[in-house]
Amino acid sequence: KPIVAVVGRPNVGKSTFFNRIAGSRISIVEDTPGVTRDRIYADCEWLTHQFAMIDTGGIEPDSTDIIMSQMRDQAQIAIDTADVIIFVCDGKHSYTTADEDIAQMLRRSKKPVLLVLNKIDQYKKPDHFYDYFDLGLGEPVMISSVNAMGLGDLLDDVVKMFPPHEALEEDDDTIRIALIGKPNVGKSSMVNKIIGENRVIVSDVAGTTRDAIDTPFEYKDQKYVLIDTAGIRRKSKVNESIERYSVLRTITAIERSDVCFILIDAAEGITDQDKKVAGYAHEAGKASIFVINKWDLLEKDNHTFNEFKMRVKEEFPFMMYAPVMFVSALTGQRINQLLEQAKYVSNNHALRISTGVLNDIINEAIALNQVPSDKGKRLKIYYATQVSVKPPTFVLFVNLAELAHFSYVRYLENQIRKNFNYEGTPIVFKVKARG
Ligand code: GDP
Repeated sequence: KPIVAVVGRPNVGKSTFFNRIAGSRISIVEDTPGVTRDRIYADCEWLTHQFAMIDTGGIEPDSTDIIMSQMRDQAQIAIDTADVIIFVCDGKHSYTTADEDIAQMLRRSKKPVLLVLNKIDQYKKPDHFYDYFDLGLGEPVMISSVNAMGLGDLLDDVVKMFPPHEALEEDDDTIRIALIGKPNVGKSSMVNKIIGENRVIVSDVAGTTRDAIDTPFEYKDQKYVLIDTAGIRRKSKVNESIERYSVLRTITAIERSDVCFILIDAAEGITDQDKKVAGYAHEAGKASIFVINKWDLLEKDNHTFNEFKMRVKEEFPFMMYAPVMFVSALTGQRINQLLEQAKYVSNNHALRISTGVLNDIINEAIALNQVPSDKGKRLKIYYATQVSVKPPTFVLFVNLAELAHFSYVRYLENQIRKNFNYEGTPIVFKVKARG
């Protein structure tokens, strides 16, 4: 999926714009209590194109040098992660020195950039429209986010700038693994260990140019690509930028992966940050494995293994499906087993059940455990069908969608899991009413 980044000064209307375009799934950064929940990523669709949009902005600071520094951070994030950059300026006025500064960074990056003048509430070119050609980013596109004017034309322009389809198309035999986890959990060490033990590195694979830290290799006749989120560490004066940068790198890495290795520091135990990271992988519908790293640091007895596993299951109740592996990137313990496990969950992620077999399971489940009812109305499940894989996605056709309570759907999910091996993958249910 191509990634589109939105960049611009505070108050030019980025948030309004973002919300206008944003589609179904929106990820937000939830930081310390009291800090506003800050959306950062959204799945979007325009015509037949799917793309992900990221908002690089963060807090809206009031001191000018913080604004400058934060804008440079934003632009850098966009340059590093996006396929197309939307640079939003305030169309009510001419450009500022900050705009000039950012325009220069964006120009040098050679990424496709679309210059957008927001707040143009009537279709009339303001006098300062022509000033904007000075920025060297071509003719500006005029929009009004508040009135939803010009957005369709803008999106037409955006999708034209996407890289050719082949460049984005991922080789289907390749298993793409994202190594995610908080700083110092051992991501880089693990990449080095895996690569060090499997020296058959294929270089310059088409489509992997987007991120210099994607590492392709082969192990036992299976092709893999490792996507490391640790590679680049930017310095910034602004803490929010650092946080946002690491979240965005995590999310974009997850987005491009089939399987996520969720790294957890064995010595430190499970932290809130680990939960956030795992949540992103789950939400994105990827196959996941909990990788407990630095296992060498623990003093172990007969129970250590099971106790830790239990704790993982307790702390991540929404990810009961994910296997737990105990490894050491330092000693290499069980590192190659990780790859076999990745292949296994990746297969499960792509598993398809025939409609006939699926409905047998659903009917049996209904017979075992009565369907919910409310105010004299009883849920009827007409039939179910699997509509897609990666992640396995099922549609339930029912009489009344509101009767399909979460707990009953969860029960059906468990019945399916009992009959089929979906270990390592989330399962998605969509409930549709059919009168
Ligand atoms: P990253 O920030 O997630 O990429 O983490 P690094 O790979 O840079 O590792 C952070 C620190 O943890 C380094 O000092 C590593 O040597 C150390 N480390 C990584 N994996 C292990 C491990 O399995 N065992 C031990 N004892 N140390 C590890």
